[in-house]
Amino acid sequence: MAPLDDKKDVPMFSDYPQQIPKIECGASLDTDTFKAYPEHNEALGFPGELLPNWKEVAIAKMGELAKKNRAFQVYLDACVKCGACTDKCQYFLGTSDPKNMPVARQDLLRSVYRRYFTFAGKYFPWLVGARDLTKEVLDEWYTYYHQCSQCRRCAVACPYGIDTAEISMAAREILDSVGVGQKYCNEIIAKLKKTGNNLGLNPKALRATLEDMEEDLLDETGVEVKIPLDVKGADILLITPSADFFAEPHIEGLMGYAKVFHSAGVSWTLSSYASEAANFGMFIGSYENMREVSWRIRQAAKDLGVKRIIFGECGHAWRVAYSFLNTLAGPFDFLDQNYPIPQHILEFTLDEIESGRLKIDKSRNDEHVVTFHDSCNVARGSAMGDKEGGQFDVPRAVLKAVCNNFHDMERDTIRENTFCCGGGGGLLTDDLMDLRIKGAKPRMTALKQVADEHGVNKMVAICAICKTQFAKVMPKYGFDMDTIQSAHQLVANAVILDGQETEDDAE
Ligand code: SF4
Ligand code: SF4
Repeated sequence: MAPLDDKKDVPMFSDYPQQIPKIECGASLDTDTFKAYPEHNEALGFPGELLPNWKEVAIAKMGELAKKNRAFQVYLDACVKCGACTDKCQYFLGTSDPKNMPVARQDLLRSVYRRYFTFAGKYFPWLVGARDLTKEVLDEWYTYYHQCSQCRRCAVACPYGIDTAEISMAAREILDSVGVGQKYCNEIIAKLKKTGNNLGLNPKALRATLEDMEEDLLDETGVEVKIPLDVKGADILLITPSADFFAEPHIEGLMGYAKVFHSAGVSWTLSSYASEAANFGMFIGSYENMREVSWRIRQAAKDLGVKRIIFGECGHAWRVAYSFLNTLAGPFDFLDQNYPIPQHILEFTLDEIESGRLKIDKSRNDEHVVTFHDSCNVARGSAMGDKEGGQFDVPRAVLKAVCNNFHDMERDTIRENTFCCGGGGGLLTDDLMDLRIKGAKPRMTALKQVADEHGVNKMVAICAICKTQFAKVMPKYGFDMDTIQSAHQLVANAVILDGQETEDDAE
């Protein structure tokens, strides 16, 4: 591990267990993300710029959401200020700004809700902490609701199950409804609507990228492993994040899926029309946009005539797929009902391992001492396999089947208590780099502990956002950027394909 840089903007590790910082009011107030241009907002059906009557529209939207979404209203009404959530947010732990405490973040919106929608707030606002909606308040919403990755760690601690992520999504939806969208999310959703993926990659460029990967696989194994695109009549449609087509270590994950499908002898395909698993509609709280993105997957499955849909490694995409896909774009009665709809690639791979169909040589990963970062949207927003806790156990079962050396991080930083990587929920943008570095601090602290005690040198994630975020921020904490790995990267190392030349053959 490289020595830790102690420049002022680079946070130092905390002692373990994680220390609760002394509060610094306004520490994060100047950390703003770029606002969307009019064309990005309009492409999503929102006003291009701040409406002249924004205040009335925002209050009406808040009322509409409270009426439509009972959970949102209960979350606004139910908090008893017990304080159990205050130290659970990685952005509070990283920035020390008290408005990044979950309860304080909720109160930014709750105080306005009280003013306009409760008896006490209308007539005795000073008694119940109710406040008018002003431009200053709107700006504060924009700042602090874009310092929440919607990770739901605070909701696990709350005795009432109040989910700050839902409040944050609602706040962003209100902001969008008055013409104040975030550039990063809205630009990406607009791009996906045009091209089918977040990158704006056209089918020709996508095909060329996949062919390059096929060549790499041939060079490495001596076996022709295909990564098919738009193959009608294939059994399986793989929906994977577009980061798998170009970013490190995501690409190695995609090549790992290809090796698993090849070994399993199944027919599969990617789709150029639905070449994106990510669904940023969730981050901005927009059901309509989330539905439109999901509908492309249904359309691709129908057009290609597949029997199954499998999702690649992407955290929030799996949450949308597992929890909402059927509601958003179902019914999927045209698929083979003998398989989960949809299925996660790790479930598929574990089935192949347990059935003995995959030939594995674990020793090929012996140089790695591995730990696993549970991604928030998988850990707290979905499930996997047919057993309770499968979203925690299936990935670990796969990793333990392909690696000899595995150590979990501290119990209160994994599974349902996992810390966000610091870049989720639409925060994975360079204009929020300072916040991303600080938000990663609790995870980096837990990683350092297992690195020091057990020699851990690789951390696996099953989320495209986590992988990108860690590759960028790990060097700030003294870890090499390739410390972060795709789960299927380690699977790929260990799988021996039929006809593959191994080092043993060469000797
Ligand atoms: S959802 Fe996550 S990021 Fe948002 S306030 Fe709660 S702990 Fe913090
Ligand atoms: S844990 Fe729940 S009830 Fe307690 S302060 Fe936080 S949000 Fe309110």
